[in-house]
Amino acid sequence: MEKEYKLFIGGKWVDSVSGQTFQSFNPATGELNATVAEAGEEDVDLAVHSARKAFESGEWAKMSPTDRGKLLYKAAQKINDKLEFLAEIESKDNGLPINETKLVALPASINVLEFYAGLANKVQGATLASPNNRFNFTLKEPIGVVGAIIPWNYPIMITMWKLAPALAAGNTIVIKPAELTPISTLELIKVFQEVGIPDGVINVVPGHGSTAGNALSNHPGVDKVAFTGSTVTGQLVMQSASKNLKPVSLELGGKSPNIIFEDANIEAAVNGALSGIYMGQGQVCAAGSRLFVQESAYDKFMDLFLRKSESIRVGNPLDSSTQMGPQVSEEQLKRVEHYVAVGLDEGASILTGGKRHEDAGSGFFYTPTIFENVTNEMTIAREEIFGPVASVIRFKDEEDVLEKANNSIYGLSSGVWTSDIKRALRMVRGLQAGTVHVNSYGGLDSNTPFGGVKQSGFGRDLGIEALDMYTVTKNVWVDLSEEGA
Ligand code: NAD
Repeated sequence: MEKEYKLFIGGKWVDSVSGQTFQSFNPATGELNATVAEAGEEDVDLAVHSARKAFESGEWAKMSPTDRGKLLYKAAQKINDKLEFLAEIESKDNGLPINETKLVALPASINVLEFYAGLANKVQGATLASPNNRFNFTLKEPIGVVGAIIPWNYPIMITMWKLAPALAAGNTIVIKPAELTPISTLELIKVFQEVGIPDGVINVVPGHGSTAGNALSNHPGVDKVAFTGSTVTGQLVMQSASKNLKPVSLELGGKSPNIIFEDANIEAAVNGALSGIYMGQGQVCAAGSRLFVQESAYDKFMDLFLRKSESIRVGNPLDSSTQMGPQVSEEQLKRVEHYVAVGLDEGASILTGGKRHEDAGSGFFYTPTIFENVTNEMTIAREEIFGPVASVIRFKDEEDVLEKANNSIYGLSSGVWTSDIKRALRMVRGLQAGTVHVNSYGGLDSNTPFGGVKQSGFGRDLGIEALDMYTVTKNVWVDLSEEGA
């Protein structure tokens, strides 16, 4: 891996105006991954101007949509050629197990790019009903310069969720990766440069949130802000963007309920609960972090859930047998420890885990943790821990669990495990969430809109629907009468 990275502005690799840099570390070992140029306000300004210039030059937006799609498709193939390399970088950057980056996150990112490559020439308006002496139709035009702010948990995949639809629709973009994980995005972008995406169409400005992130969300030259991150930061981003009245989409946090009824296939439900809370070390916005288990199935479910939780292999993310890597940073590890202490303080009890995993290495490893005797009012059931900590809550019946599940400021994802189709569909209707999984947890696909309700945000990444966020509708009235309307 290269040890030094620069900003990517206007098709060139450049130092930051201030000359400042920051360091990016491997959370499994503490080793330095790279030194990265740190963007500040002036660099963001340069990047936005370069994106604006590229947009207005028309080389990209006015290129035939079919050709745009072909270039994106070519980039997808190149990413596939570099899959192992990019997966390793991603795992070293943020600690995701290599099997998760190589077999899940990278293939999913390629799939997203291919999906939008195919959609590039299917962006279409409508011909509207009108009298015979008029034509009335709509055009779907690119919105302009997109500012994308990305979190550290799945950097390549979440970058792609914004980048692919934005480019397919003919926009240009400035990407601000998370300060903890800038490297994989910078490597990813090289692929787009190699296939000939014009200079200035993609710009990357690694840096801190309060400086580079804020400068991007508040820049008058940005036409749309696409944000994924925490709810607190989402509020700041929306405030910033409101100064120039720019549209924002916010994919934020969650405290998603995963609900196990007594008539569920318990083994399948346990497996779904495990991946729901331990995948990505629990650093997943849609994690099933509130686990509701019906009283009558409690012992059976918990016995297997406990045994399987304790058998999870925590260790070096680059080892293909590893199932859980380290938390992304010391700060994140301390955040988990803080919530575990608060949980104990408020009367919940630890069934397993609840401590660092020192045998796994010198990095920020934590043990898979289960809290029992949790009530929905406790802090560990209300706030996003963003770690491998399941808060298990008992429930009596459908009415009881629906009230508890919806009693949250969040509404990102949810899961229901039952063999009763009527009950499943009643829950589907009742749950306040952007996604309901039935007898599964965590499905994601490029054609499937993803996002939340309530304080989990608004707007949808993925699917045909996401193109709406990257286009504006222009209405055209044409008068055909001789005398004019
Ligand atoms: P974060 O909010 O701390 O940071 C996200 C990004 O925002 C980073 O690039 C950061 O530098 C930037 N940022 C920080 N302060 C800013 C400011 N004032 N103005 C503009 N940008 C700023 O989140 P994180 O810790 O990187 O990621 C974890 C959070 O992201 C969790 O809450 C998680 O639930 C959420 N998340 C949501 C989704 C989703 O799709 N809903 C997906 C992944 C993560």
